[in-house]
Amino acid sequence: MQKVDLFIRHALVVTQDDQRRILEDGALAVKADRIAALGPTAEMDAVFTADRVIDASGRALFPGLVNIHTHLFQSAVKGLGEDMPVEQWVQAVTFPTARVINPEEAYLLSLVSCLENLRSGATTVMDFMYSLDNPALHDAVIQAILDSGLRGRYTRTIVDSGEEMGIPAVMRQPVKEALAHARTLQNRYNGAGDGRLDIGLAIGVIWAITEPGLRAVRRCADETGMTITMHVNETLFDNVAAQQRWGRATIPMLFETGVLGPDFIAVHCVHMTDEDIELFVRRNVAVAYNPVSNMYLGSGIAPIVQLARQGLRIGLATDGSGSNNCQDMLETLKFGALLQKVGHMDPSCVVAQQALDWATRGGAAALGLADQIGSLAPGKKADFFLVTPFTAKATPVHDPVATLVYSAGQPNVEMVVVNGRILMENGVFTHLNETQILHDAQRAAQNLARRAGTEKLLERRGKWRPV
Ligand SMILES: [Zn+2]
Repeated sequence: MQKVDLFIRHALVVTQDDQRRILEDGALAVKADRIAALGPTAEMDAVFTADRVIDASGRALFPGLVNIHTHLFQSAVKGLGEDMPVEQWVQAVTFPTARVINPEEAYLLSLVSCLENLRSGATTVMDFMYSLDNPALHDAVIQAILDSGLRGRYTRTIVDSGEEMGIPAVMRQPVKEALAHARTLQNRYNGAGDGRLDIGLAIGVIWAITEPGLRAVRRCADETGMTITMHVNETLFDNVAAQQRWGRATIPMLFETGVLGPDFIAVHCVHMTDEDIELFVRRNVAVAYNPVSNMYLGSGIAPIVQLARQGLRIGLATDGSGSNNCQDMLETLKFGALLQKVGHMDPSCVVAQQALDWATRGGAAALGLADQIGSLAPGKKADFFLVTPFTAKATPVHDPVATLVYSAGQPNVEMVVVNGRILMENGVFTHLNETQILHDAQRAAQNLARRAGTEKLLERRGKWRPV
């Protein structure tokens, strides 16, 4: 018999492997941070023993979801900035908050976002932290990812202009300084948390970066191996601003400055011309689809079906809790499929399997981690979650993928494992006091709203102050 650390038996295993195999009575063996083997329970029982054996009868096991775009600290503004277009929303809500947030608040509010990602089956997140000049704020968000147990890529945003757009001074630095800080973060944190964390670069948005800034980010990415992510064409304003600055639209400008490449993860991509799509294909970029955020801000419907048909890598994402009001990847799976069906007036244009592919394999490929995560296979990281069927929302179950995409909610996520470590069991976090964290975060958000002046947005609506 072969001894492993964790052995899960009698689960319905949705592997998301190349053949999309589903094992109706499957078992999975975990050794350290990796999947040692998986197969039919009867066969696996004859080979493996473990100190920790879990009978998962009646439950379904899925590879962890990959949330490739969020702003973890934005839990701070959940419920404050309702019903505004994005340009107004950033100035009224997120910028004033970012200007005064302190490291302790950034830590607690990011941790809330991490906990909800885990509760909704996400095991990997890519965070897009604002370009704040206080290094302690970056350390605080990174610490929240590490303490939560998630796998994460933390991206340091580069913003070197945009004063006329209301971007506060604390969010603008010379490109050289910001990139030096990103390199410092990479040296300090790459591989932290037993290999769970790495560092990447982010460009805030086209109207907050100069042309030398664009070129410098690309050079830094080439030298360091860091990926680049960027908000691209979330609204029509991006192209208006780019035309004003350079007489060119956003994506042609990114193409000409060499920013686009296989290591570039374009976020939103709601307003795309045929030429834009063609340039993306030529540079093999990846795309982050944020259906809930796009609906919330009224940004539009991203042409994800067309982008996917062109062979581009598509990942699913929540965006920050400021423009979503939660971090629920299960909700995102459902809306991701539904929004495309509405846009095409065709219920078959995205099927449940396609949505799950974007949330697992697609996101992994977009991050350049397809050999590590995104499906359940021997040698891959042990990142997965167990779904229990018996909630009124989900019962009865027949097709596991349809249940997960259309009928499951956070109460169905019973167990979450990241890097071989059980982080949640029977719906309870094993390593963190969730109740305490939520109370502390509520208090922190109240104080922050008062200092940021965003509390005044509630004047006509009434304030809920539970602590
Ligand atoms: Zn965003």
